[in-house]
Amino acid sequence: MQLGSFTVTLGFWRKRCFTVKMFQWQRLLMPQFEKKTVHMRDPERVEQIICGLIKGGASKLQIITDFDMTLSKFAVNGKRCPTCHNVIDNCRLVTEECRTKLLQLKNKYYAIEIDPHLTMEEKYPFMVEWYFQSHSLLVEQRLEKDKLPEVVRESDAALREGFEHFFDRLHQHNVPVFIFSAGLGDVLEEIIRQAGVYTPNIKVVSNFMDFDDNGIVKGFKGELIHVYNKHDGALRNTEYFKQVREYSNIILMGDSLGDLSMADGVPNVENMLKIGFLNDKVEEQLDKYLDSYDIVLVKDETLEVPNAILQKVL
Ligand code: C5P
Ligand code: MG
Repeated sequence: MQLGSFTVTLGFWRKRCFTVKMFQWQRLLMPQFEKKTVHMRDPERVEQIICGLIKGGASKLQIITDFDMTLSKFAVNGKRCPTCHNVIDNCRLVTEECRTKLLQLKNKYYAIEIDPHLTMEEKYPFMVEWYFQSHSLLVEQRLEKDKLPEVVRESDAALREGFEHFFDRLHQHNVPVFIFSAGLGDVLEEIIRQAGVYTPNIKVVSNFMDFDDNGIVKGFKGELIHVYNKHDGALRNTEYFKQVREYSNIILMGDSLGDLSMADGVPNVENMLKIGFLNDKVEEQLDKYLDSYDIVLVKDETLEVPNAILQKVL
């Protein structure tokens, strides 16, 4: 009995040392981790999780990701890039008066969204207010569904550098990708469609406009998704998560602390690697991000680190 348990323990440590060593070797081939933008509270833990992902390979991997400012760029040469909502806010279909009102709302509520001194619970009702008011303004504008492709084409929306590799690899290996966005689903889908990466392994859950028979927006479908109510996503999408139940290794990507709860309630999780993009108010927020995300990418407009990990896992 004694001897048996000793052998098991020894076996465990041998195996552990082997995997850690193996990964250190692999890390030599991951120069992306040496970038200044990469921050980790506990690199050893990150190594362990990545080892778990490598071991599971393609057949166990699924991606759960935010969209705005995670898959899309935050800024180019210091100039802010639009969120899905901003694509509409700035488009020529919206009157100047409405644009001004939307901008005023954004100035007020975005400051609350990223305020490091407020808790998520405190921010929650303000987010509901913001979405309610901005969505009502969009409905008043009687936007036409047919015009959306043109509006997106004319916008400055951009996906992060390396997005082609990211999506191609995931598609090649048939990895399920759940894009969970508090943005505008119709705009989001058009952005990834125009980028040529909207493949069948992708499922988008977001705020979708409801159009009347003439293709004019009359409201929004389903329950509102805002930045701080993503925790019930798995509950609301039980069918999807049942289908991908065997994919027990997760890479979660987000840019907000609210995104951390995107995988809450997902059944059967073996390993989860959380990658956070910290774009704004870096000094004030870095500590909190490091507490919650395994890897924090500070002002990094690329998908180099996720791509480097995917290259090892797939
Ligand atoms: O995809 P994601 O969940 O990040 O989309 C939410 C983003 O949309 C937030 O970062 C928020 O700042 C932005 N937003 C906006 N205009 C609104 C509501 C939200 O730009 N009216
Ligand atoms: Mg986001």
